[in-house]
Amino acid sequence: MTELSPDARASRITRMASVRERMEAVGVDALLLSHGADLPWLTGYEAMPLERLTVLVLPLVGDPTLVVPGLEAPRVAIADDLFAIRPWSDDEDPIAITVSLLESGPGGTSRGRVAISDRAWATSVLALQAHLPGRTWQVASSVTSPVRAVKDPSEVAALRAAGAAADRVASVLQSGGIALVGRTEAEVSAEIGSLLIQEGHQRVNFAIVGSGPNAASPHHDPGGRVIQRGETVVCDFGGTYSLDDEVGYCSDITRTVVTGEPTTEVRNCYDALQSAQQAAVAAARAGVTAEHVDSVARGIITEAGYGDQFVHRTGHGIGIEAHEDPYLVSGNREVLAPGHAFSVEPGIYLPGRFGMRLEDIVIIDDDGAPDPLNSVDHSLVVVDG
Ligand code: ZN
Ligand code: ZN
Ligand code: ZN
Repeated sequence: MTELSPDARASRITRMASVRERMEAVGVDALLLSHGADLPWLTGYEAMPLERLTVLVLPLVGDPTLVVPGLEAPRVAIADDLFAIRPWSDDEDPIAITVSLLESGPGGTSRGRVAISDRAWATSVLALQAHLPGRTWQVASSVTSPVRAVKDPSEVAALRAAGAAADRVASVLQSGGIALVGRTEAEVSAEIGSLLIQEGHQRVNFAIVGSGPNAASPHHDPGGRVIQRGETVVCDFGGTYSLDDEVGYCSDITRTVVTGEPTTEVRNCYDALQSAQQAAVAAARAGVTAEHVDSVARGIITEAGYGDQFVHRTGHGIGIEAHEDPYLVSGNREVLAPGHAFSVEPGIYLPGRFGMRLEDIVIIDDDGAPDPLNSVDHSLVVVDG
């Protein structure tokens, strides 16, 4: 078993206390954390995405217990006063163990409200519900999401390191260090992925490369298309980066480059995109709503005549997960606050012709101002390939 660093331990104690406070506030009697990011965020332990049940049983009153497959138990860092560990062997029933932990605790009545991981397997959820018929169920994010959305200093440091590593890859792209013309999107995507690893990421989450007409598909799956001269190429990539063996945090950046001199139309379109992105970053201050930032970007792109071609929200929160709260989308009146981390990534897509997107990760700093984690060139860089 591995020891927990004092810093990691302290931040987990704080997180556990915040989660309990929030459980109390929203009236949740027990929290069950299985697959997904809540568990590693709270305990430093990530459950393998396999069929065996891993679940942290966290009652509002009483000690939390991590029910974990026996063969995975050695991967759990010791944090004895934070939670107990209940390893189970393959001839035991983990559902029965979880049910008895819920029923034996001080709050263990047959009623009450249970919140369970948004990404828990349906097999576990349905089995637990069948054994706990009197309870009311809701998703764990109703408890954890607002707490997780506000990053603490160790999380900000990890996001910053991830962003800097992604920036280094983007700068290789912009300086022509990754050949484009004459290669397939898939080849370029693979090279971007290996650079992400080389720059310190543990894992590549995605490396979208969309060229020519494919650039008009925001989440294009890079394939066999050979990149031509005179095209826009949208490169959107990110990975998971971990500092000091702690839980990893995500990077996510988009830069659009052109292989040869852009046409006036592409140039004008990009001018609108860049202004929109810049204005939206500047608008992302503590006290404004998430939807306000979206409306700033959308307003500028609409003014330039491309409103209908900006087909997605302006951004998403980021942390242990590549996409998490808060979402910068029309209708989200959540107020931005220091510690919120999210992407600002407007795009313009002309089906069958070309597309472009520009994305940075931004954190709201302690003074309430936007602090972009990506600073590589925001202009439309010509890469001859
Ligand atoms: Zn996306
Ligand atoms: Zn992205
Ligand atoms: Zn993104």
